[in-house]
Amino acid sequence: MKILVINCGSSSLKYQLFDMTDESVLAKGLIERIGLAGSVLTHEPEGREKVKITAEVDNHTAAIKLVVDALTHKDYGVIKTMQEIYAVGHRVVHGAEKFAGSVRITPEVMQALEECSEMAPLHNPPNISGINACEELMPQVPQVGVFDTAFHQTMPPKAYIYGLPYEAYEKYGVRRYGFHGTSHRFVSGRVAEVLGRDIKELKIITCHLGNGSSIAAIEYGQSIDTSMGFTPLEGLVMGTRSGDLDPAIIPYLMKKTGMNADEIDTYINKKSGVLGISGVSSDFRDIEVAAWKEGNQRAQLALDIFAYKVIKDIGAYAAAMNGVDVIVFTAGLGEKSKETRADVCKNLSYLGVKLDDEKNNVRSQLREISTEDSKVKVFIIPTNEELVIARDTKEICVSGRDRI
Ligand code: ADP
Repeated sequence: MKILVINCGSSSLKYQLFDMTDESVLAKGLIERIGLAGSVLTHEPEGREKVKITAEVDNHTAAIKLVVDALTHKDYGVIKTMQEIYAVGHRVVHGAEKFAGSVRITPEVMQALEECSEMAPLHNPPNISGINACEELMPQVPQVGVFDTAFHQTMPPKAYIYGLPYEAYEKYGVRRYGFHGTSHRFVSGRVAEVLGRDIKELKIITCHLGNGSSIAAIEYGQSIDTSMGFTPLEGLVMGTRSGDLDPAIIPYLMKKTGMNADEIDTYINKKSGVLGISGVSSDFRDIEVAAWKEGNQRAQLALDIFAYKVIKDIGAYAAAMNGVDVIVFTAGLGEKSKETRADVCKNLSYLGVKLDDEKNNVRSQLREISTEDSKVKVFIIPTNEELVIARDTKEICVSGRDRI
């Protein structure tokens, strides 16, 4: 059974084709610059050379067509015909309160997705375009939506209601939704599996640290709190996003600088975070080089602020759960930066965390990195959101249920 997983951004599209008999990846790839001049598809058939294909890709339908052509190509394809694709799973960023799990796409679901778009104007519209494109090109193939917000729907109201007049929630849906749910769900499930423990017995803090970063408190298998909020802007300081701010800063800066609502939105989403603080880059690798090799103090400050906020949020979630058994690091930075993990863990000794420096000296490997006698276990668990999407898609299609 072959399942295609699609993650559509506004100008990019990532895909992976899974063979679900053994969950192997047959091919994966990325199209960049959709709708712009010089679109490029990078296609990687498993075990063979990567190919780069330059094409005119005006919209998401053209992009999906290019993906299908690559997957079925006589030289670098991995399947003979499109009919081999059993189902398509889509990453959808915002499911609001409408989706607490993955669903089979129907006209009613599409309607609900449109309604969620207002809350995620940058993310949901391209997700919807990707689904529409697949419906157009392969109308007989079932499609499934897997939501970044779904896993966090178990949060209690005390974690998701803001200190605003209650009508902001009732009338406008303003509440914490949380994101990266697919990743938090995968790594918490995987760490319980590796430990040979029932997740229903564990208090886990998962740190998804990448370009966008979030932390979640997962108590007995359920997300009870997470750092991202109404949008993926809240919480940690990120590549280009500010994370938590005193909300009064927004009208203050608008008055001072004359920025309008859209401009301030760009300012806090695209120009802030470690990029804004360091003035160097949004990529932690560049910031690390600037800080450690060039002695750039603002780059070092950006790294310090980033780690400090992770430390504070771990403390908050340990308090929220009245303890923690396992801390997981995942995503680009969490999996690859031993320095970030060390910086964070050195301030967690009060919880009984002891990092093993030797074991921590590793990149992107599933590994326990705490010492034998550490009271809290610390793990690197490489995330795999695409696999979760493929598994949910398979389960929905095989079980015949329309949601899980
Ligand atoms: P996204 O949120 O876009 O999915 P990723 O989870 O792939 O991002 O993380 C990408 C980020 O991880 C990069 O911006 C970079 O800052 C960071 N990163 C990747 N490799 C390393 C590394 N070896 N050391 C430090 N940071 C890294």
